[in-house]
Amino acid sequence: MIIGGGPAGLAAAMWQSHCSPPPRLLVLEAGARPGGWVRSERRDGYLCEHGPQAIRSTPQFSQIVAKLGLEDELVAASPEASTRWLGRRGKLRAVPTKPLAMLGTGLLSLSGKFRLLREGRVPMQRALDGGESVAAFCERRFGRETVPLVQAMLGGIFAGDASRLEVASAMPSLTQLEAEHGSVMRGMRAKRQAKRARGESGGSQPEIYSFEDGIEGLVNRLAEVVGDALEVDAPVESVSQDGVGWTAHLRDGTQRRASRLVLACPARVSARLLKHAAPELAVELAAIPFASLASVYLGLPIAKPPAKLSGFGFLLENEPGTPVLGAIYASQLFPGHAPAGHQLIRVMMGGSLHPNVVDCEDRDLIDTAVATLQRYVGQKISPTFRHIVRCREAIPQYELGHKQRMQRITDLLSSSPGLRLCGNSYEGIAVTAQLGRDAGLRAAHEGSAEVAAR
Ligand SMILES: Cc1cc2nc3c(=O)[nH]c(=O)nc-3n(C[C@H](O)[C@H](O)[C@H](O)COP(=O)(O)OP(=O)(O)OC[C@H]3O[C@@H](n4cnc5c(N)ncnc54)[C@H](O)[C@@H]3O)c2cc1C
Repeated sequence: MIIGGGPAGLAAAMWQSHCSPPPRLLVLEAGARPGGWVRSERRDGYLCEHGPQAIRSTPQFSQIVAKLGLEDELVAASPEASTRWLGRRGKLRAVPTKPLAMLGTGLLSLSGKFRLLREGRVPMQRALDGGESVAAFCERRFGRETVPLVQAMLGGIFAGDASRLEVASAMPSLTQLEAEHGSVMRGMRAKRQAKRARGESGGSQPEIYSFEDGIEGLVNRLAEVVGDALEVDAPVESVSQDGVGWTAHLRDGTQRRASRLVLACPARVSARLLKHAAPELAVELAAIPFASLASVYLGLPIAKPPAKLSGFGFLLENEPGTPVLGAIYASQLFPGHAPAGHQLIRVMMGGSLHPNVVDCEDRDLIDTAVATLQRYVGQKISPTFRHIVRCREAIPQYELGHKQRMQRITDLLSSSPGLRLCGNSYEGIAVTAQLGRDAGLRAAHEGSAEVAAR
């Protein structure tokens, strides 16, 4: 039995259904539709993504697309939308795709550039008790001037605070490169060379995709495969355990029983469900914080956007009084996301550094989005379409101590037989991290049947 029909719960169920022999499955989803934060809403000809705008291709993503037979529905992001901008004090600058190309930009001062070049000579540091923040790691390895840049980047991924996010959990590739090569830059170079030696493209731009009808196409197909095993409008209030298995107690007073239970809902919900069945585990899960954010969608009657409104979008360095994290030029990435002759811009605001912004009035959110765009693009913006989506407690924050907390959670799980956790609260924030066969089977059916080759 899986509680939560978001990408993680659906993918776990799908991989399970390919086990031999297939187990009897049940997925309980609180909402009227499955998919969690993945939702693609068409309004007035614009396609507004509530959650992920695009999916970065990874081996897990390719694996599930092939398994679901969705190859023909994939839509690749337009190669013309590759420029990413960084906003600082009212000005947008193009972000280079390789770290050393930073040396040719105005993003760092001369001394900042020399400091960046010395990264290879910075000694490694022994792991700190309680972890090291992303900000502290970047300052130590790349120099202080890189911290605001990394903060902007983390705003776009975690809507989080670089001085609170733990580097080993939020950006594990950085600590791995440091551990394996003694330097992040040396490690990146070695990886690129190894890729070239394998004959793979050394392209520095990741492949980015959506589907014909938006990202929801992926979860709809997953739900289709899960079929009758999915029960929607089935919010679970608590779970209990006896010697035989687990019972889910639903809000409508009914119960469902199973020998194994996978909690694929956010950690803060799992904490509530486990309050009586596993109180110590519940305390650890409740301690994982979540950030809220709002997306403002603006439709502009512009056929050919000006240079600063062209590309992937921008991220903003944190500036007092500006709650905007950045903007995605949605219809440049995927031209079908706006009517012909129009542009769709998604402005994101809030996050850990501006926790109350999500509760602002619609009018204030729209005014802030328009004013910020005008300031950075340098011209008047007159949207003819406006829409707002608020995502409350949406993005888990892997803050300092997360790695140690994960170890305690793993230890505590061993005393709750038949219980598993999955989803983006734990070890991978991106939607792709929830989709792979490994994650799905580890969550749902550990140590059991082989996956049938079908
Ligand atoms: C605004 C935003 C932008 C994002 N952008 C990107 C991006 O560009 N790229 C990317 O890779 N990822 C992005 N993400 C992250 C991505 O959406 C998540 O990785 C993904 O949704 C996590 O899936 P999940 O199944 O773990 O959790 P969720 O999507 O949170 O799904 C959990 C499910 O559990 C259900 N549930 C909760 N409580 C109960 C209950 N009591 N009983 C039964 N069911 C319950 C919920 O209704 C929900 O359907 C973004 C997220 C947000 C919010």
